[in-house]
Amino acid sequence: MRVTWTGGELNFRLDPEDEITGRASDEHPIRLATNSCSIGGVPDDAHPDLFAVAAWTIVAPWTRKQVSFDRAISAEVAQTLHDGWGVEAGPVAAEPRGPGATLAISYSGGADSVAAATVYPDAPFVHFQRVTHPRVPNRWPHYRSDVLAKLAAKTGRELTVVTSDLEYTLSDPRPGYPEHHAVAAGALLLADRLNLGGLGFGYEIGSRWLGGGRYLGRYTPDNPMWSPHGRWGRLFAAVGVHLVLPVGGVSEAVTMRLALSSPLKDQVRWCLRGTGGPCRTCGKCLYKELIQAAVERRPLNTPITADQPAARKWRKKPPYGGQEMIEYGLARIPGIEDTLFAKALEYFDATEESTSWLDHCYPKALAEIPDQWRDQAVAFMTENVGIMTEAEVRRVETWGS
Ligand SMILES: [Zn+2]
Repeated sequence: MRVTWTGGELNFRLDPEDEITGRASDEHPIRLATNSCSIGGVPDDAHPDLFAVAAWTIVAPWTRKQVSFDRAISAEVAQTLHDGWGVEAGPVAAEPRGPGATLAISYSGGADSVAAATVYPDAPFVHFQRVTHPRVPNRWPHYRSDVLAKLAAKTGRELTVVTSDLEYTLSDPRPGYPEHHAVAAGALLLADRLNLGGLGFGYEIGSRWLGGGRYLGRYTPDNPMWSPHGRWGRLFAAVGVHLVLPVGGVSEAVTMRLALSSPLKDQVRWCLRGTGGPCRTCGKCLYKELIQAAVERRPLNTPITADQPAARKWRKKPPYGGQEMIEYGLARIPGIEDTLFAKALEYFDATEESTSWLDHCYPKALAEIPDQWRDQAVAFMTENVGIMTEAEVRRVETWGS
């Protein structure tokens, strides 16, 4: 793989052994669409290691043996790429970037992201805004990334908006981040200007510890995407930008509760489709409605019926992504047996008691937060959430076994 940056424009050329099909770090199969993309709103004089790691979030799935950058990187980054991915990286000549002092939040505007922001009320935001690609047709005009950027601007936080078409480098399964970390590509290039030492993400306990997303139903202490000792955690640390998960120890029920009671509650938006509000008809809106109804202990309020595509998943057998939240919802929503979740109810014996661990914070998630930001998260979780008991910790650590 050969990587070239011209200002904020990334071009990459595959070597003979590279492939246009690959797997992201979560093992999901993906396919390359095109070999260039741009990142707007970033300086062109960032440390060379920052350019290298930003590029790696986009080219990693296609690279098999080696990667050469257009500017020399540090030996530390080269070693981390070798240890984590088995690739030879170079040329090597730069001094490593020293860590900065500031924690910024990679802010999407969704409930998890808002909850993470609420833990650190003074942290600046970096928001990634999807824009169209000059050479790839946009068949997703219903993705209203402009609406999310406007909401981010209304939060009153110090905000930097990064615009990028990098999601269009993926053709399959659809435009998206080649690696989840590509959402941070712009934040990495801003790291010197913002003096970043850490970047906070809204990944919650399901994504970090319970094998959420595409890993289904297993305890994942060594999660390769989000653990500090995993390959991505080590790579970000090598450029002085630690991965920080302020809400990594709490469930989506807690992030929903925190977001809806936060000063940013009017700007929360998890759906990319609606303009004046969430669309209420997509699968994500349905899942979030289940969580919100459970948190508010009220009946499910959705226009989606059991025969619609958005409901299809819930007629099938588990395991489901986010299964812990399904159990939580089934145990708490009045009248759930008369909704489109009736079929799913047959597979679980969930009760409020058996799901109450999802109302508390898993302490190992707090222990992972770097020293300089940990006390604030511990104080926040102790005051607003409560720390798990040993019995609750065991529920996390035996999840899926
Ligand atoms: Zn929606």
